[in-house]
Amino acid sequence: MDSASASGTGESAANTSPGRDTTDTEYARCDMVERQLRKRDIRSQRVLEAMASVPRHLFVRPELAAEAYADSPLPIGGGQTISQPYMVAAMAEALALEGNEKVLEVGAGSGYQAAVLSLLAREVIAVESLAILADSARARLARMGYVNVRVEFGDGSEGWPADAPYDAILVTAGAPSIPPPLIEQLSEGGRLVIPVGPPAQQDLVRVVKRNGHALQETLFACRFVPLLGKFGWPPGAGAAEPSRG
Ligand code: SAH
Repeated sequence: MDSASASGTGESAANTSPGRDTTDTEYARCDMVERQLRKRDIRSQRVLEAMASVPRHLFVRPELAAEAYADSPLPIGGGQTISQPYMVAAMAEALALEGNEKVLEVGAGSGYQAAVLSLLAREVIAVESLAILADSARARLARMGYVNVRVEFGDGSEGWPADAPYDAILVTAGAPSIPPPLIEQLSEGGRLVIPVGPPAQQDLVRVVKRNGHALQETLFACRFVPLLGKFGWPPGAGAAEPSRG
C-alpha cells in the first residue's frame, strides 16, 4: 500500500454543488477509483464498480463535499470519521462478497461504507452507537434509495444478535481485541474483518470461521477511531485523529 499518489486527487470536485451528482463529481469519483484504488492493489471488479457508483460527496457535510474524493478520511461529526476511500475498498474486498450475503457492519458512521456493501451483498445491517449519526445515516440511505441497508442504534461490539448469523461482519472502528460475540455471530464459512490493536495503530485482521474454528490472518496496518462499548475501549481512549481509517 502506498500513499504517494495522494497529492493532486479530488480537486476536480471543487466546484460541485452539494446534494447532487454532477459530471464533476462523477469525474472526481472515476479519478479516485483509477488513482487510489485500481493503481494500488484493489482487484475486485465488483468493488471497483461499487466505489464508482456511490456518491461519496453526499455522505459528508456540504462544506466538505469538495474534499470527498481525496485520498484521506474526513470528519463526520461526533469526533468520528468516514474512512479513506482506499480503506473502504480494501475492507470490502477482504470480505470476498459475491452478492447473496447478509452483512453486519459495526460503526455505520455516515452510512457510506454500508452503501458500498449494499451493492455487493443481499442485505446490510449497520449498527451505530452514536444516536445522532445513526439517525442521519438512516435518513440519508433511505433518501438515496439504498433499500437493502438497515441502520440500527446500539452497541455493535456485542454484534447484533437479532439478525445473526452473518456471512460477513465488518468493524470500522479499532478494537482492543476481537469481541467474542462477533465470532459467535458468524455463519460457517463467514468472514470477519476488524482492526485490532492499540488506539495509535492497529492491524486489519480477517477471521474465517471453518468447522467452528476461527482462522485468523493479518492483512495490513491501519488506524481507526476506537471501538467503544462492552467489548471496546472505555470512553476517552485514543483521542487522536486517525490517519487512514
Ligand atoms: N463506516 C463509517 C465510518 C466509521 S467511523 C462510514 O462509512 O462513514 C467509526 C464509527 O464507529 C463511528 O461512527 C463510531 O461512533 C462507531 N462506533 C464506535 N464504537 C461503536 C460500537 N460499540 N457500536 C457501534 N458503533 C460504534
